[in-house]
Amino acid sequence: MSFSSDVKKELCAIECEKDCCQRAEAYGILYFGRAFGKDDISIMTDYDFVAQKYKNAIKYLVPSEPEEIVSKSGKITVSVNSRDERMDILNELGYSGNEQTMRLLTTNIEDECCFGAFLRGVFLACGIVTDPKKEYHLEFDVTFKSKSRDLTEIFEGFPVIPKLSDRNGVNIVYFKDSSHIEDILTVMRAHQSVLALINEKIYKDVRNKVNRKVNCDKANIKKTCEAASEQIRAIEKLIDSGKFEELQPELKELAKLRLDNPEMPLSELGANLSTPISRSGVNHRLKKIMEIAAK
Ligand SMILES: [Zn+2]
Repeated sequence: MSFSSDVKKELCAIECEKDCCQRAEAYGILYFGRAFGKDDISIMTDYDFVAQKYKNAIKYLVPSEPEEIVSKSGKITVSVNSRDERMDILNELGYSGNEQTMRLLTTNIEDECCFGAFLRGVFLACGIVTDPKKEYHLEFDVTFKSKSRDLTEIFEGFPVIPKLSDRNGVNIVYFKDSSHIEDILTVMRAHQSVLALINEKIYKDVRNKVNRKVNCDKANIKKTCEAASEQIRAIEKLIDSGKFEELQPELKELAKLRLDNPEMPLSELGANLSTPISRSGVNHRLKKIMEIAAK
């Protein structure tokens, strides 16, 4: 099961509390289905629960027995085969059936409470949401440009801004911002899916922090190693030039300790001297050794 199908399953289980919302949901799934006009009213879907919701939407509006056909590949098509029934559905939703271009009728989305229900219907008909583990992406695939523009307009006044694009003749209304996707799922009342999305966001955030810490540790180790190899080169130079024996006893002791322990941190070097000294004391003495070697 994909994240998209989980969301749709969750949406299909929601019961509308009010008649106005039930009507808005039915309008959303019918209007944004595969076809909505006097010659064809139908939907094509991969999911039997969406097919059932579509049938319920039709039956809520008019007395009808929609036909269901399942293809070999498992695609389900639900359609209203009677012309009279199609006309009844269109009339019921405020259309004459003779429109040149179908436009969205906001009269079918009466109240603020209906917006989420309408969007739920639209999403069931033509929505896709990508698994947030992969990326943040939610889209509505709309067959007509006018319908995609109407859908974009309906988001005006809502704090999410959809983008429009065209993919092989299909008009895509899409969202890329995780907080917008969260808002849309919330308004559709897909609460489980919202939680899944938020959990994924938290997980990603923690993982990024851990990665940054690991990278930082790696960088620090690299820096320490580079410093130590510079010190060792300086000490070897002193040995080669015969200057090593001339070093003050405390510098000589530290130099020997460093040669034997190339990876030892400064604080440990200090603790292992016959008279232990601090990290900054070790740093000071090593600098002195390198200065002498440089001369
Ligand atoms: Zn309502």
